[in-house]
Amino acid sequence: MSSKFDVVVIGGGPAGYVAAIRAAQNGLSTACIDAWVGSDDKPSPGGTCLNAGCIPSKALLESSELYHRARHEFSTHGIRLGEVGLDLAAMQARKDAIVSQLCGGIQGLFKANKVSSLAGHGRLLPGNKVEFRPHAGEPQLLEAEHVILATGSVPTELKSLPFDGQRVVDSSGALAFSAVPRRLGVIGAGVIGLELGSVWRRLGAEVTVLETMDRFLFMADGQIAKEAERQFRRQGLDIHLGARVQSGEHGKDGVRLRYDDRQGSHEIEVDQVIVAVGRRPWTDGLLDPLAGVALDERGFIKVDEHCRTTAANVWAIGDVVRGPMLAHKGSEEGVMVADLLAGQYGHVNYANIPSVIYTAPEIAWIGQTEEELKQAGTAYKTGTFNFAASGRAKAMDQAAGLVKILADAHTDALLGVHICGPMAGELIGEAVLAMEFQATAEDLQRTIHAHPTLTEAVHEAALSVDKRAIHAINR
Ligand code: FAD
Ligand code: AMP
Repeated sequence: MSSKFDVVVIGGGPAGYVAAIRAAQNGLSTACIDAWVGSDDKPSPGGTCLNAGCIPSKALLESSELYHRARHEFSTHGIRLGEVGLDLAAMQARKDAIVSQLCGGIQGLFKANKVSSLAGHGRLLPGNKVEFRPHAGEPQLLEAEHVILATGSVPTELKSLPFDGQRVVDSSGALAFSAVPRRLGVIGAGVIGLELGSVWRRLGAEVTVLETMDRFLFMADGQIAKEAERQFRRQGLDIHLGARVQSGEHGKDGVRLRYDDRQGSHEIEVDQVIVAVGRRPWTDGLLDPLAGVALDERGFIKVDEHCRTTAANVWAIGDVVRGPMLAHKGSEEGVMVADLLAGQYGHVNYANIPSVIYTAPEIAWIGQTEEELKQAGTAYKTGTFNFAASGRAKAMDQAAGLVKILADAHTDALLGVHICGPMAGELIGEAVLAMEFQATAEDLQRTIHAHPTLTEAVHEAALSVDKRAIHAINR
């Protein structure tokens, strides 16, 4: 192996592996160092996303939703089953197989694009040199014209309740339970807490969610968050808002969690607890102090809008830099940097990054919330459409939720699209494209949407912005 590259990427998650592939496509000699090791002790590029995040969580969300529907909803469709049983080991094995197929896919893509895939740890040294420490063997010194740092993030631990991998687990532990907990505590009602709480609730756990904020899903549009909260409570998630967990004590039969809210101090006992209070950037062992890469006060690598760090020819992308911790955000930063390195145009539109929560119903949004528009003093129009009036949603027996569209009162430009309902994560794609093209509500109104599809709900919400919805009473 040559030790000189145009580009060395450290970290092979969705930010790093995408940057490496695009750099190689652009004709740059590229290496990608990744430290992840799979459960089979083999290198497993793909980062948190493929190994312990987006993909395994969606696999379990899908399986648990099917289990739930088979038990509780199939009879509505006139489908009679015998007793529906749970084979959790098979469910987990299916998830693991998907993960290993996709991680193997990354290896295949590296090979096809001639990216040198290096399994082990990378450390940035001064002068654009990288120390590569393979999992087995001697360290090597690599030289690079450019280095891209993409080392991602790790779960935040509560000091008062450290992870023990058994009773107190992070998201990785919660994706790997080998038995359904009877009483499950979830600390943090963010995306990860809600998705994993939903998985285990559907599989039979009693789930108590403790969230420190007073407002449910404070980052989402208030009306959408309210609808989602209503649905989750109906599903049996016991959600406590304004509840800050102070400590946890291990007992004989479980963990006693003490939390404070406005009413005072409370205790609950659970068998297992998922701590999902956020993630922090991961740079341990990555940076030689003389390499010149600065961190901000929260530990993220400091970058400009093009992901340049404070060191010449060193770039950083993904969860390890500012911005939402989302796989697609990191991937787009990877594409931007790789294109800039090849002398091409590169840009990320940070104002237009979709968010999706893959619960049932799903929640997805793009752009500004009604609360943000109010605060900014922007004059806006609102259109909503309930899935209850969507033929397709009815046929699917998933007619809960709504689409909400916010448009500028003067120019009609789309300012935000917010969805709580079936396949919201797919539906939001239309809105992302529309907003990227600076479409107006009228553009959506005049776009033909196939019937009967869920996309008609987006169409009707756009019509409703101007009180012209056909399948709803305009107020
Ligand atoms: P990572 O994916 O964390 O990858 C970093 C890689 O770098 C890792 O493989 C790590 O081992 C390696 N590494 C670290 N240090 C070194 C070093 N010194 N040398 C070599 N390698 C190193 N996002 C979404 O967009 N959609 C979702 O549905 C979603 N679901 C999620 C569900 C869960 C349970 C979790 C935990 C996260 C989820 N996320 C989701 C977030 C998403 O996983 C992250 O935003 C994304 O993985 C970040 O990508 P990244 O490439 O920056 O970092
Ligand atoms: P996210 O950042 O989306 O992963 O969400 C993490 C959630 O955990 C946020 O909604 C936080 O408000 C919440 N949170 C953080 N610390 C605590 C705590 N000690 N007790 C309860 N909730 C917490």
